[in-house]
Amino acid sequence: MAKQVVTRFAPSPTGYLHIGSARTALFCWAYARHHGGKMLLRIEDTDRERSTEAAVQAIFDGLSWLGLTWDDEPIMQFGRAERHAEIARELLARGQAYYCYCSPEELAQMREEARTAGRPPRYDGRWRDRDPAEAPAGVTPVIRIKTPKTGEIVVNDHVQGKVVFKAENLDDFIILRSDGTPTYMLAVVVDDHDMEVTHIIRGDDHLTNAARQIVIYNGMGWEVPEMAHIPLIHGPDGAKLSKRHGALGVGAYRQMGYLPEAMINYLARLGWSHGDAEIFSVEQLVEWFNLEDLNKGAARFDFTKLESINGHYIREARPERLYTVMVDTARETDRQADAAGLVANRDTVLAALPELQPRAKTVLELIDLAQFIYAKRPLAIDAAAAAHLDEGSRAHIAAFAEVLRGLADWSVPAIDAAARLYAEQHGLKLGKVAQPLRAALTGRTISPGIFEVMVLIGREETLARLGDQTERP
Ligand code: GLU
Repeated sequence: MAKQVVTRFAPSPTGYLHIGSARTALFCWAYARHHGGKMLLRIEDTDRERSTEAAVQAIFDGLSWLGLTWDDEPIMQFGRAERHAEIARELLARGQAYYCYCSPEELAQMREEARTAGRPPRYDGRWRDRDPAEAPAGVTPVIRIKTPKTGEIVVNDHVQGKVVFKAENLDDFIILRSDGTPTYMLAVVVDDHDMEVTHIIRGDDHLTNAARQIVIYNGMGWEVPEMAHIPLIHGPDGAKLSKRHGALGVGAYRQMGYLPEAMINYLARLGWSHGDAEIFSVEQLVEWFNLEDLNKGAARFDFTKLESINGHYIREARPERLYTVMVDTARETDRQADAAGLVANRDTVLAALPELQPRAKTVLELIDLAQFIYAKRPLAIDAAAAAHLDEGSRAHIAAFAEVLRGLADWSVPAIDAAARLYAEQHGLKLGKVAQPLRAALTGRTISPGIFEVMVLIGREETLARLGDQTERP
């Protein structure tokens, strides 16, 4: 029977959960789920200076929000330092690693010489075959791995293909520091081995690390996992992704009003494809996901496309759920007045949502669109709306308000019919009646259908808002 697929997502908790990392997590997750395997989470917290509790929490929160569930308890890498050291000693015992007693001055000199000779700075292997009996007194050594001096180290990568590294270009790198702490290179290999990881899916900035890590696998006689190094995400201009272009934490996307299912759909398409499918559910992603269709070129982040996908999922979402997301988003982004207004007018907002959904691309836009429901009188009228409220149109608003007051039936068709009749009687286009009404009732030029607005806020509030714009103080 084939081995169970085990992937792992191994973020360093040194900042927010970056959008590129979220995509890596998504691919690890989708691959594991597709194969009925496991995705493990390993927090690479060995950089004690830069790792923070808050960043660990941001990783948990970001993954949970996206629905990327991991299996088993998260592994904290720093907690495994003793196990890493044990493997370093085992490599020593196997003759695959050695103590190096070079002083910082010697290493600096080595680098300097390499630089003058135009060679890349590399450790020259001077302790590789030297008798440890020659060790200088009082120096605590580091442990270095023996990298083959000749030949090739080949990374057979699912995305990059066969990538060949000349052994002579890789030096005998440190696996255990003199203070007994493991280097990143050692820790990753030992953890991936112990966690029985079968597939390493990560950014292609780790491709050269892969060659070094293979040296450690070989030294231990361990099987090298399958690897897929995915191209990084670039900005729309092809340059490295900058903050302005979307290099933000996952939480920032939530605060900008993107839905998690839209993020999943968009991130999946950012570097992977299934024919020409653009919109697909997470179930379809799991069903279709494979490593063969990962793109070889860098993906370009495109906010416009993300927005349009988000708009799709906003249209699809159930009002009850969107309502909850709107309240949460308002609170999280410190829009307290909106949060209070939404909470106090739950039923009206729910009734309005089918009208608002087709008009919004983000949850923040939905909140903006819902503001007319709980706006306090007299409404603030924006500049574009004010342009529709000149003397003439105010007079029409006042006259039409009287029609509305006498209307027997307060429904969209009844109001619609009354407005058409009024326009016809006064030789006006319907828009000439509707736009001033919209301005007076919402303070904006964009809103749901204006007759729907009237039904949503009710006759009393409608007449009061119209009165605010027509009655002279
Ligand atoms: N901790 C590394 C990073 O955040 C990932 C290491 C790995 O995937 O092997 O870039």
